[in-house]
Amino acid sequence: MGAGGRVTKIEAQEKPLSRVPHSNPPFSVGQLKKAIPPHCFERSLFISFSYVVYDLLMAYLLFYIATTYFHQLPYPFSFLAWPIYWAIQGCILTGVWVIAHECGHHAFSKYQLVDDMVGLILHSCLLVPYFSWKISHRHLHSNTGSLDRD
Ligand SMILES: [Zn+2]
Repeated sequence: MGAGGRVTKIEAQEKPLSRVPHSNPPFSVGQLKKAIPPHCFERSLFISFSYVVYDLLMAYLLFYIATTYFHQLPYPFSFLAWPIYWAIQGCILTGVWVIAHECGHHAFSKYQLVDDMVGLILHSCLLVPYFSWKISHRHLHSNTGSLDRD
């Protein structure tokens, strides 16, 4: 798309093939995992919940500031403040989404029930059905890089 209609048919066919890796890397996924220190795979319930509390508090604080003080701003600033709020609140809620995503990967805690409960609650708040998303998302990750099944 970037080159528009100026790329000839032969160029379009050669370019992707020269850039796409066509052989396996010299290491396996297992070797890659062993290179990562074991403490990186430890899950802490306290740290995980601290991220949930922090993100939800930040989201509430931003919402409170916006709904309480934005209407008191002088004319042009009251309208300019909302798009800034939307962008910042979007970043905070993306953090909530990331935590919910990790619950689907059983990375939130070492307890599957806790992961599913937190994932269900956070996904429901974000209007995403948790368990069906979890199944389809697992299928997505198991076929990453596959042109046919990804
Ligand atoms: Zn994922």
